[in-house]
Amino acid sequence: MNFIVIFADDLGYGDLSTYGHPSIRTTHLDQMAVEGQKWTNFYVGASVCTPSRAALLTGRLPIRSGMASNKERVLFPDSDHGLPSEEITIAEQLKKADYATACIGKWHLGHHKEYLPTSNGFDYYFGIPYSNDMNFVGNIASEEERYNIKGGGQKTKPELFNVPLMRNEEIIEFPADQTTITKRYTEEALSFIKKNSSKPFFLYLAHNLPHVPLFASEDFLGKSDRGLYGDVVEEIDHGVDEILNLLKKQGIAENTIVVFTSDNGPWLSYDEKGGSAGLLRAGKGTTWEGGMREPCIFWSPTNIKPGVIHDLGTTMDLFPTFSTIAGISIPNDREMDGVDLSNTLFKKESSPREIVYYYRGTDLYAVRKGDYKVHFVTEGAYGQFGGKEVHNPPLLFNLNEDPSEKYNIAAEQPTIIEKIQEEIEEHKATMVPGKDQLKDRSGK
Ligand code: MG
Repeated sequence: MNFIVIFADDLGYGDLSTYGHPSIRTTHLDQMAVEGQKWTNFYVGASVCTPSRAALLTGRLPIRSGMASNKERVLFPDSDHGLPSEEITIAEQLKKADYATACIGKWHLGHHKEYLPTSNGFDYYFGIPYSNDMNFVGNIASEEERYNIKGGGQKTKPELFNVPLMRNEEIIEFPADQTTITKRYTEEALSFIKKNSSKPFFLYLAHNLPHVPLFASEDFLGKSDRGLYGDVVEEIDHGVDEILNLLKKQGIAENTIVVFTSDNGPWLSYDEKGGSAGLLRAGKGTTWEGGMREPCIFWSPTNIKPGVIHDLGTTMDLFPTFSTIAGISIPNDREMDGVDLSNTLFKKESSPREIVYYYRGTDLYAVRKGDYKVHFVTEGAYGQFGGKEVHNPPLLFNLNEDPSEKYNIAAEQPTIIEKIQEEIEEHKATMVPGKDQLKDRSGK
């Protein structure tokens, strides 16, 4: 079985039409959701890029690998480190069964050679090593240039962001022309699939959009009713269609599982240039639902039983799920945080996941068990949603009855909080934080 993970950046829970967006047309993802499984309680391992990506690729909470920090939230162009070599990525895991592997798109797990995708189990890499808004070389004091990132229609220029585009370990374009980047990622994905259609492969296609600054290619610019943000999402949606069509044409759709999700919630401080978490509270950077619950669609004709799944799942579950399907044993020399979702995908059995941990940096802020979520600490992000608040007694929400986290029911349900606290004690007993990989920045 082949695996393709299509990972959007900063796309919110409410940004696909199948998840309720009223003016973005994601026709192809909507169709993929009808033919496959649409998960409505699916989470990422952190509410910002670097730790979220580490969680997906290792099947472990980012605190364990040292890819979460209370000093720096993500890696920067002057960061010294990245994903430690002792970590096993999905690509390295699938290599045990001789998979061909490619990472196309944004990496953000270390840009020095020893941390690049090619040092982490990927045969091939094409993409940018960190976020598309980094190395801003415009006039930071210029109202107009800054406004163009936030508002300003199509006026942002790719050359204001000195971001390298790489092939394997070489920089091939500097700065990357971001206006065509989504299109080129799709083309690279298609070419990798064509080359490898006769053997098992793993493709990790991590689009760097719709993270700001937003860019769309000519065919999509100005086409969406939602403005530039919608143009960008519709271009990604079009790429999904091209990939699924190629799989069908090559006769390998039934040998392939395609997953579509996003790394964290919408960057709301960018106004209409940021996405939407729909009815979920807050967005990127927080442990409120809008920061960490994401759209997630699984597709594999004849294999995945179609439906809407309300059970819990996370990106960390992909590691054990793919391993089980590929017949590779799960590493037993370390704590894994993922669970195998294959019986939910193939037989529609209940998901084995009961708990979701919401870390900010290395601190545990909230825990979901079943329908209930307890917040011990809440904190906004990017100047929104308030400062850090410790809650004693904690806040309690029933996320099925109250997905927007509006009605604190802690006083009515004290035993639920006690039970969750017991789970946390057990969880903490397993926790050995990895050495902080994010804190050192030689340029700072
Ligand atoms: Mg992101």
